[in-house]
Amino acid sequence: ARSLERFLPDEAATTQLGEDLAMAVLPGDVFLLDGDLGAGKSTLARGLIRTLAGDPAHEVPSPTFTLVQSYDTPVAVHHFDLYRLSSSDELEELGFDEAVSSGVALVEWPERAAEAMPDTSLRIAFQHEGDGRRVTITGDGPAFGRIARSLAM
Ligand code: ADP
Ligand code: MG
Repeated sequence: ARSLERFLPDEAATTQLGEDLAMAVLPGDVFLLDGDLGAGKSTLARGLIRTLAGDPAHEVPSPTFTLVQSYDTPVAVHHFDLYRLSSSDELEELGFDEAVSSGVALVEWPERAAEAMPDTSLRIAFQHEGDGRRVTITGDGPAFGRIARSLAM
């Protein structure tokens, strides 16, 4: 797998990364957002979703209890939070496969259903570093190349 790293000094930088990713995503992309509570997963998701919605104030509720929130944006986005997932059957009931085929999937706590995540997923791992965060984006194939080129611009 190939990877790239970025240091995000503050919340605005995490939001900006979400906004940058929004410019490069295509339906079928799956982003696995890895990191502890408070790492910045939801902050990145919010930046990405608001950019696709074309509305910087778009309501982006946490999917903590619903497990998924879907957005009928020009490129559909499905924001999952699997922390409270009880089984892989439940993931199927949530429409995970349909979500992946119809739009972009953002998945918080993907380790709750690791075996169900597509091989083509891109992983975005957050680590605390000083007062900021270091993110490592890992993946393979055309999706990684497309995202990496877009972030380099
Ligand atoms: P998670 O979804 O991973 O639990 P959230 O995005 O809900 O995390 O919360 C992350 C917290 O960290 C928020 O308080 C946010 O302001 C802050 N934060 C996000 N990105 C950064 C960053 N790059 N540096 C410092 N603080 C950040
Ligand atoms: Mg979160």
